[in-house]
Amino acid sequence: MKVGIVGTGMVGATAAYALIMQGVGREIVLVDLNESRVKAEADDLYHAVPFAHALDVRAGSYSDLAGCRVVIVAAGVGQKPGETRLELLGRNAAVFKQVIPNILHYAPNTVLVVATNPVDVMTHIAAKAAVKFGVPRSRVFGSGTTLDTARFRALVGRQVGVDPKHVHAYVIGEHGDSEVLAWSTASVGGVPLAEWCRYHNIPLDDEIKQRIDYNVRNAAYTIINGKGATYYGIGSALARITDIILRDERAILTICAPQVEIAGVKNVTVAMPFLLGGNGVIGGHHPMVLASDEQEKLHHSASIIRELITQLEAQDDEL
Ligand code: ADP
Repeated sequence: MKVGIVGTGMVGATAAYALIMQGVGREIVLVDLNESRVKAEADDLYHAVPFAHALDVRAGSYSDLAGCRVVIVAAGVGQKPGETRLELLGRNAAVFKQVIPNILHYAPNTVLVVATNPVDVMTHIAAKAAVKFGVPRSRVFGSGTTLDTARFRALVGRQVGVDPKHVHAYVIGEHGDSEVLAWSTASVGGVPLAEWCRYHNIPLDDEIKQRIDYNVRNAAYTIINGKGATYYGIGSALARITDIILRDERAILTICAPQVEIAGVKNVTVAMPFLLGGNGVIGGHHPMVLASDEQEKLHHSASIIRELITQLEAQDDEL
């Protein structure tokens, strides 16, 4: 099974590495504007194959994406000094105007997984462009808060001394500053988190919750301060998402996809729990039964993204 990655900077290349290490797919095609870089990445990645799983890895052009079941989009530009978020968004939207039609021209049946930041807005733009190609909305979504949810589960798991795989807890909303940690719905082994902690005499006061909240919300900043970029976590999340699609797994992940309404905000794209299968998103998001403060925070978060989309659309009427 063929997987494409468009944009092979740190995130795209690390996603390819994670696919190889986990043996996801049979063939990986890498596409990037920077031809010498993408060829070098393909060669370097291919040399990891003998130590991992039998996969073919090569650099190619858009036409080589024909037949891809999944294409990960990690192409984008970095923020220039003094540039506003909206200016950066405008330049990334210009990248997508080029990238998305090119992918869909050659791979009209692919599932598009957007990883470029700000991922909520970029996914909204990609889905709008894809509709013009007759691609159903279910086949375009973004990585959303998949990674934030994993971080949340890891930190709660550590606090309660349980493997994070047995912690159910979600981070929803924007992948960024306004994201919402849905504490009220968190559970461990089917038991509400607060009750689990009471029963096992584990502290979970406001201070501990605030510390976990801070560490989840600021993880990217902390990593960027230390090493300039984040890529292992998101690369692994993208490999996991790809595996779910290739195996038609029907897993629930906090990806982002355009929705008619989220928390009272219309026509918006932010992360919520969605069911994912072989053709992408199955149905709409799962309405969570949130505490009222969490619902308000989700409304606030979705409003921020809707406002950015509105500003971007006002700046460029082709979007
Ligand atoms: P990240 O850390 O998010 O991966 P990078 O700047 O390392 O960010 O990578 C972004 C990649 O996207 C670069 O390799 C860049 O060449 C690529 N890119 C930028 N614009 C385009 C485009 N129009 N088409 C294809 N690739 C692009």
